[in-house]
Amino acid sequence: MSVEMNPGDTWGKCFVSGCPIFGSLGRGSEWACFCHYRADSGDFSEITHLLLHELRPLGQSAVDIRMHYGRDSWADAFKRIQKRLREANRLDMLFNADGKDTPPSPPCPPGMKPVVKMWLARIELEMETRCGEVGRPMELPGITPPTAPVIGPTHAMTHYTEIAQ
Ligand SMILES: [Zn+2]
Repeated sequence: MSVEMNPGDTWGKCFVSGCPIFGSLGRGSEWACFCHYRADSGDFSEITHLLLHELRPLGQSAVDIRMHYGRDSWADAFKRIQKRLREANRLDMLFNADGKDTPPSPPCPPGMKPVVKMWLARIELEMETRCGEVGRPMELPGITPPTAPVIGPTHAMTHYTEIAQ
């Protein structure tokens, strides 16, 4: 997940045609992005479509964080990311959206501050979750969102058993 990203550089891209995300996970002899990694090949194009449209603001923001954090360009990139997420009405993905993050201080390379790492993880997890819904029409309606109380072990086991059959 620590692949260096350069704008306009196609090297290192996910092996799925048209996918804008970098391939960071081995899938057979290919490199897949974290959104395509576990997907059935029949769902590839639908996931790519999601990444290019609905999830584009999130994907661009994740790339911006990885590219600019720790560099002089970070302050501008941070403003751009927040603006983009607001315009996309993804207020839940804003830095400090959950009230837990503290404002990022000036760049302090080489490491990424934990709060920024958590922010990046939050954005990428949302993308992964959304892409994971593709090709699963059997998913139970009203399934518990991540912020709601956790389903008990008994329920969870029943649920997974149904999925497996
Ligand atoms: Zn991909």
